[in-house]
Amino acid sequence: MILNSITLSNFRNYDDLSLSFHPKLNIFIGPNAQGKTNLLEAIYFLSLAKSHRTSKDKELIQFNQEEAFINGQITTSSSNLPLSISIGKGGKRAKVNHLESAKLSQYIGHLNTVLFAPEDLNIVKGSPQVRRKFLNMECGQISKVYLSNLSSYNKVLAQKNQYLKTRQVDSLMIEVLNEQLAEHASRIILKREQFINTIEKHALKIHSDISNGKEDLRVIYKPNIKYEHKDSEELEKEILDLLMDNLEKEIERGTSLVGPHRDDIAFTINDFDVQTYGSQGQQRSTALSVKLAELELIKEEVGEYPVLLLDDVLSELDEVRQAHLLTSKRDRVQTFVTTTSISDINHAIMDDMQLYEIENGR
Ligand code: ATP
Ligand code: MG
Repeated sequence: MILNSITLSNFRNYDDLSLSFHPKLNIFIGPNAQGKTNLLEAIYFLSLAKSHRTSKDKELIQFNQEEAFINGQITTSSSNLPLSISIGKGGKRAKVNHLESAKLSQYIGHLNTVLFAPEDLNIVKGSPQVRRKFLNMECGQISKVYLSNLSSYNKVLAQKNQYLKTRQVDSLMIEVLNEQLAEHASRIILKREQFINTIEKHALKIHSDISNGKEDLRVIYKPNIKYEHKDSEELEKEILDLLMDNLEKEIERGTSLVGPHRDDIAFTINDFDVQTYGSQGQQRSTALSVKLAELELIKEEVGEYPVLLLDDVLSELDEVRQAHLLTSKRDRVQTFVTTTSISDINHAIMDDMQLYEIENGR
């Protein structure tokens, strides 16, 4: 999948900008605060109809303007498509091939992207909550069923917590809620397990390559419920039994204590925990391997590689890791990279690419 060109108007610090892109490697270079990340954000928004850094769309509209526009032209193995999104104060509208999509969910999926930014290091270094958010975003991107199970689970969980807080608990009522929780939980857990296994399969290989075969990366699902069954219905029964076993404790504590809302993921290199014992570089290459594994996962699901967006990551990687990042998928994955300094870029990769100097929104 290739993004051929983009046109922005009133988007962040870009008044009007039209760029056509190199099919393999595009590097945006410039000092701080010139608009490099804004440009990647525009590509990300064209892909997912949301920003990776804010949930408030109106922040994307240029100061003192009413509406922002992003237009792009993509080429996939089967078609050439114009995509466009407008962001107004009242909402956003998305078009595929000049036809407005009634729902954003119909729009999303035409342009697939994987973004790696410095804050992704938190997948490794941050709290379990960050990792659960990562799981939910990624499983949600490839499965709409997952999203609907997750949203039902969260609704019932909130209801149950509210109820446990009142301390006047009718166990029949709790059983009804637990039955619903067990049903959604079993599906969430199985999807997470499947996702993590696939990510691990690819991340292991990628990490081995970037560490010259010296480091064995594992991605391990740490479900809060230690389950035995892999069949959705059996698992549902198993979870329900466990929930009922914990009922007294939950009443005592006034909150839900078990379930996938307390899941986590662990990363190990050569059997030590990366979060606790890994060097900065190892933590970074772990996060990077996991993100690059998503390229493979999307390729498996969609049949084509997505576009890769790399924000500010080159200066953080040594030459081997950098060369791997920019050359291994070079011919198949169109890549967009931002950097503040040309000296960050390994000279070996400087042919067959396009360099853009970014200065104050131009
Ligand atoms: P760094 O190297 O520090 O990451 P960058 O080139 O990635 O810098 P961006 O984050 O892309 O910088 O751009 C930041 C600039 O965009 C800032 O100068 C900021 O004031 C401006 N900016 C952000 N939002 C808007 C907006 N809605 N309207 C106009 N300008 C904006
Ligand atoms: Mg930036």
